[in-house]
Amino acid sequence: MKTIHIIAALLISGLASAQNTFSYRTERAEIILLSEVQGENNTKNLIGATPEILAETAPGNKYPSALNAFLVKTKKSEILLDTGLGRELFNNLKSSGVAPEDIDAVLITHLHGDHFGGLLKDGKRAFPNAKLYMSKKEFASANESAAKAIKEYGEDLVLFEPGISKPKKVYDVLSSMSSYGHTPGHTVYIIDDLVIWGDLTHAMAVQMPYPQVAISYDTDPAAAVQSRFMMLSYIVRNNLKAAGMHVPYPGIGSLKADGKGGYIFTPVK
Ligand SMILES: [Zn+2]
Repeated sequence: MKTIHIIAALLISGLASAQNTFSYRTERAEIILLSEVQGENNTKNLIGATPEILAETAPGNKYPSALNAFLVKTKKSEILLDTGLGRELFNNLKSSGVAPEDIDAVLITHLHGDHFGGLLKDGKRAFPNAKLYMSKKEFASANESAAKAIKEYGEDLVLFEPGISKPKKVYDVLSSMSSYGHTPGHTVYIIDDLVIWGDLTHAMAVQMPYPQVAISYDTDPAAAVQSRFMMLSYIVRNNLKAAGMHVPYPGIGSLKADGKGGYIFTPVK
């Protein structure tokens, strides 16, 4: 039910935008933002945001939000990281010159509807030639609709244990790291110097300066906060960049500590 709320909130306030895609290069891959929604969300679902924090970071009790998936093109393969709800995914792929049959692997950060919805098209498997990757723990937490979508991929399902505190290779040039809390098996993916962090944040404007703020969609808000601090610190320590599924356009940026316990995110150009 929690997922349905965020989807509704995003769609109601979503703006029609020509800025659906954006291309970014890492050493071994081209990363393409596939954005389904650019809009704003209400702060009512945030946990632990004081009136002072909200006044400073979310004027009018609103913050910019988005719903993104990412396409990763390497020398060898075309990889999808999450699928959004699946409403704009296929148009976005088409405008990126990629057909569903071209996708070699789909890697899922977690099993909320706004991340796995595009696994199916018209109730059938959308990516006939793709392996489907997710963490063992996340698979174990799948609800009925997630389990139904996963089942369509039959023997092409690959379950793995993400790296703990350090990246572990999962597919082609992609590594994984566990960041449990938002969901029981939430996983981030790393390509060269870019961390694609799934739902490590929902409200960038609030949670970058105040990473201790959680959201009601977190399965375990305290663990989600801990994972956020851990991952933000890891990214800054290793001079990495970050991309996220609810990070407003272009969805990718650099990070630095703000000296007050929070972080500053600067979008790439
Ligand atoms: Zn989400």
